[in-house]
Amino acid sequence: MGQTLSMEKQMSKFPLFVENSKLVKYLSYLSPIEIWAITLGPIVLCRGRISQRVRRHETIHYQQYLETFFIGFILIYLYDFLYQAIINRKGFSKEAYLSIRFEQEAYAKDEDFLYLRFRKKYAWLKYKLRE
Ligand SMILES: [Zn+2]
Repeated sequence: MGQTLSMEKQMSKFPLFVENSKLVKYLSYLSPIEIWAITLGPIVLCRGRISQRVRRHETIHYQQYLETFFIGFILIYLYDFLYQAIINRKGFSKEAYLSIRFEQEAYAKDEDFLYLRFRKKYAWLKYKLRE
């Protein structure tokens, strides 16, 4: 039991949450959506106070980063977005953003407070790029 607790403690060291980040506001100018929080590898930046839901959402992204050796997350994320934006003609829109496979998982599960505890590795693979 003691071991389980210390393992959970170790796991919860990352991602690191940074609140009241100005950088997020500037990144929003480059994005099709207003960014409230963003996960950059092991660090989550948030414009203000971070809620439990956002914390879960960004921690799901952090797990996805780990599963794809960080660079894979960025490549797949961009591929999905550009595929929707250009090939499926969604434009640089919120719809294109929401159909990114990593976002599909995060939005589907960020209200489930038990999800991260029982999440299977590579769970995002069951989400498909929409037409
Ligand atoms: Zn997200």
